[in-house]
Amino acid sequence: MRKLPGDKYGNIGWSVMARKPHRCEVRNDGCQGILAETPYYRAIAWPRTDVNNGRVPWVMKICRDCLTDERRLQFDQSRDPELFGIDVEIRRQDHA
Ligand SMILES: [Zn+2]
Repeated sequence: MRKLPGDKYGNIGWSVMARKPHRCEVRNDGCQGILAETPYYRAIAWPRTDVNNGRVPWVMKICRDCLTDERRLQFDQSRDPELFGIDVEIRRQDHA
């Protein structure tokens, strides 16, 4: 599980490996949901933002295809630390 930087609303999220299939909560056209053994985005949407107009934080599971371009880039970077030169210590832990 890797934390991604917050967006302009301060919403945060993590890239998480799915052990079993999950329903994607965005479901854009062409969305196939979250497949087992694939990474997905687990987001926290804080209340009173464009995303969440309720009173409590929402936890949303979102497939890679349904992320915004900006978020998908961060998501991919978090999954591929060697290519982008970040999170090297996290990568070492993965291989420990
Ligand atoms: Zn989706």
